[in-house]
Amino acid sequence: MADTSERPSPKLSEQGVPSAPARRKAGRHRGEGQWAAGHFTPLNPNEQNKKDDDGLNVRTRIETIYAHRGFDSIDGSDLRGRMRWWGLYTQRRPGISGGKTAVLDPEELDDEFFMMRVRIDGGRLSLRQLRVVADISQEFARGTADITDRQNVQYHWIRVEDVPEIWRRLEGVGLSTTEACGDVPRVILGSPVAGIAKDEIIDGTPAIEEIHRRVIGNPAYSNLPRKFKTAVSGSPHMDVTHEINDVAFVGVDHPEYGPGFDVWVGGGLSTNPKIGVRLGAWVPLEDVADVHEGVVAIFRDYGYRRLRNRARLKYLVGDWGPEKFRQVLEEEYLLRKMADGPAPEKPVQEWRDHIGVHQQKDGNYYVGFAPRVGRIDGATLSKVADLAEAHGSDRVRTTAEQKMLILDVAGDQVASLTEGLEALDLTARPSVFRRGTMACTGIEFCKLAIVETKGRGSWLIDEMERRLPGFDQPVTINLNGCPNSCARIQTADIGLKGQLVTDSEGEQVEGYQVHLGGSLGLEPGFGRKVRGLKVTADDLPDYIERLLRAFEAQREEGER
Ligand code: SF4
Repeated sequence: MADTSERPSPKLSEQGVPSAPARRKAGRHRGEGQWAAGHFTPLNPNEQNKKDDDGLNVRTRIETIYAHRGFDSIDGSDLRGRMRWWGLYTQRRPGISGGKTAVLDPEELDDEFFMMRVRIDGGRLSLRQLRVVADISQEFARGTADITDRQNVQYHWIRVEDVPEIWRRLEGVGLSTTEACGDVPRVILGSPVAGIAKDEIIDGTPAIEEIHRRVIGNPAYSNLPRKFKTAVSGSPHMDVTHEINDVAFVGVDHPEYGPGFDVWVGGGLSTNPKIGVRLGAWVPLEDVADVHEGVVAIFRDYGYRRLRNRARLKYLVGDWGPEKFRQVLEEEYLLRKMADGPAPEKPVQEWRDHIGVHQQKDGNYYVGFAPRVGRIDGATLSKVADLAEAHGSDRVRTTAEQKMLILDVAGDQVASLTEGLEALDLTARPSVFRRGTMACTGIEFCKLAIVETKGRGSWLIDEMERRLPGFDQPVTINLNGCPNSCARIQTADIGLKGQLVTDSEGEQVEGYQVHLGGSLGLEPGFGRKVRGLKVTADDLPDYIERLLRAFEAQREEGER
């Protein structure tokens, strides 16, 4: 668990209840449920559940009751609520079709096994940690260990009886599942090449560590209106999807003050996607954690709690605008002004996944390789650890693109390492399709899913490699199993949103609504839903082949 004993917290009372709102009186009408307006009465069941008991407190019940008495002993509000605070979701009962997702009660969808998410802040793993992750996968998770697009590792098939032992092993090597899910500050994304890249503007690692120390597992921030996503990267390749996080710190070189970070707030996807906005402020490395804590506290105090689908920070930022947000941050939380700063430069490369072989600033190399749609398993992770060790490395990184890197490889070891990776079907020279395709968890395990994703993404890669072997334009294809956007469909060149569609025989079958032209980095913007364009799962390869052939034929110089 994160140390919660010593935290310099701006604007906090002892109970973590905001001090500023306490001075205010509730308005005559209920407003948006902001604590800062005095609305402490819970306005929906989720808020009531959080008020009844802090999500972090469920750990004691898991350790002392549920792990001993089994799944059936778990209280319903813990099962579908507070267990998320420790990275645990019930997984989907096998065999339930996507058509039943919306009509069944939650209990009917629940399996007695859990998905468990391990937070890997900054994507940093030592080989010792990687081996523990791999062993847990094999011993307790039927070999599952997906790399997620937020740099986490996700297990399935976890039994509540095994959770305390899994925590013991993870925490023994400095990993945890604390606040990996829930209405809390989630994993902190970080550049996978932090501290090693030749072209790095600034290494954000110390800021990630300090944010973690102050905020994660801290009861002052364990009841936020909804989830809160953070990204920190000093790489010029913008490798942490800063545009779609609640708060992001992006490396910039200030003409007067030197390297530091540009602050973005209010990004997010799901049903009403928003690109974050710049506050126009430059923050030195040592102030990042202060600013982060101030933004989290604003979200806690002023965030909308009345309607869950309006509770993300992006709605508050949308209503306030960046100027007011910065003013409140400076005047009520930081109690000082931030310096004005420049915008980040546009990244020069189309890909920002660090795949391939690249020289580090110390002369060694890092090797980025591509599991298929983030799917990997404990046995393979164990072999990756062996390979890395045999080639002189002691650390790996996960990326926000469902990929992995092995660091610190001497030049004369690179060829042998990449050969070893190839033998594990973990290529460092992937096709554009292997490289650019991501998929969310989908119907295999997710209770919200309507369609399958991981297996289909892998099949699509094979099909496209076979059909378009010479296609070399960067292209991203993201598959989601439902209208949520865990695989970031709106930001892909080709975004595929899972739903039931009608096939040529008039049957309801698995398929996808198509979004085209989304992008982050060079020209951030969301893909457009192509009106009426829905493709059955079986027709996906035909459709994408037609689309990409047409794109190749008509494309203008430099066009994506
Ligand atoms: Fe589940 Fe939907 Fe998220 Fe996919 S996008 S993991 S199906 S909630």
